Amino acid sequence: MPKVFRCTEDVTRMDECRFVIQTATADEVIEHAKLHGKQAHGMTDEMLTPEVISLWRSRIKDVPTGV
Ligand SMILES: [Zn+2]
Repeated sequence: MPKVFRCTEDVTRMDECRFVIQTATADEVIEHAKLHGKQAHGMTDEMLTPEVISLWRSRIKDVPTGV
């Protein structure tokens, strides 16, 4: 089942960011989220702690596939 992850709600809580990650697996979501956090929000490797990553993982949602 595809996964979806929204920056505004899940990563930074920045209202102005509309970035949405949708991938096939949770691991891909995390990789995209790391890149996006660094590129768009100036996050550093030090900020991407195991706690942050596990928090993100807990917020990844399944995308219901078409009927
Ligand atoms: Zn963002």
